[in-house]
Amino acid sequence: DFTMAQALTTTDLQGALPLIARGKVRDLYEIDDKTLLFVASDRISAYDVIMENGIPNKGVLLTLCTQTWFKALKEANPSLRTHFITLDLPPQIPESLRPVLQNRSMQVRKLRILPIEAIVRGYITGSAWSEYKKSGTVHGIKVPAGLQESQAFPDGPIYTPSTKAEQGEHDENIHPDQAVAILGERYASTVAKMAVELYKTAHEYALARGVIIADTKFEFGVDEDGEVVLADEVLTPDSSRFWPKDSYAVGRGQASFDKQFLRDWLVSEGLKGKEGVRMPDDIALKTAEKYQEAWEKITGGKV
Ligand code: ATP
Ligand code: MG
Repeated sequence: DFTMAQALTTTDLQGALPLIARGKVRDLYEIDDKTLLFVASDRISAYDVIMENGIPNKGVLLTLCTQTWFKALKEANPSLRTHFITLDLPPQIPESLRPVLQNRSMQVRKLRILPIEAIVRGYITGSAWSEYKKSGTVHGIKVPAGLQESQAFPDGPIYTPSTKAEQGEHDENIHPDQAVAILGERYASTVAKMAVELYKTAHEYALARGVIIADTKFEFGVDEDGEVVLADEVLTPDSSRFWPKDSYAVGRGQASFDKQFLRDWLVSEGLKGKEGVRMPDDIALKTAEKYQEAWEKITGGKV
């Protein structure tokens, strides 16, 4: 019952581990110089602004969703490196904090995160659709004329990176050539290749479960040997657009399992991009249901 549950909007490990960063959703703690505790709170952001209140249990769903995907992606490609170590909490965490942290935290390898967001788009929607209508391009890439809204790119998914903005700034869509300028030839081409391959695997996996992954965003890091490692959260409703396959049709926007619902509400209330917005209970509840639905469809699991 989401209405009764309390959302966890901020974590406090009471000094058990040093906090090294708070993102929009996650709190990162250092376990040792090679390992982080990557904790997903129930915070939710839309248009790069964090809402005042949270979505009960969201952090658990994001963590378990990510873990499920890491497993599936590694099964499809055993040579894939991910930052995931374990869902087990480290011994430093006292008994009293374990229940709330369990299943919303993972131990991960501490990496140097490459400063781009590796977006892959299989279908034209969102900012890509807006740009295409104006200029016939997507992230400056020339794509075929005559595409309809929500249509699959006829030549397959495309790699459309963005900058990874500092806190308070907005990510900016860039052409893959700009990613080369930022990352250098070697990392840029590895990231582009890995991102598209991962998207293809995930798209096929989800489609078999009745879900279209319209687009998604990956983050990669580099380890001490210079190897590229899949990091962050993967293929969650926060980092992806999920569409129910049943109701999919080109030529219009799609119903989605993700936070499109919250975004639409913010726009309709004139609250887009405003700080300090408190979601009314019914909006938080409906959003919680969307997260739950996406999780159940993709994993077949219950939480
Ligand atoms: P940012 O904090 O960059 O604005 P965000 O708001 O999306 O992004 P969260 O998703 O809340 O951040 O937190 C995750 C943060 O942890 C991101 O900054 C991400 O780049 C970083 N990160 C993910 N995996 C690792 C890792 N293995 N090692 C170090 N940092 C990581
Ligand atoms: Mg993030």
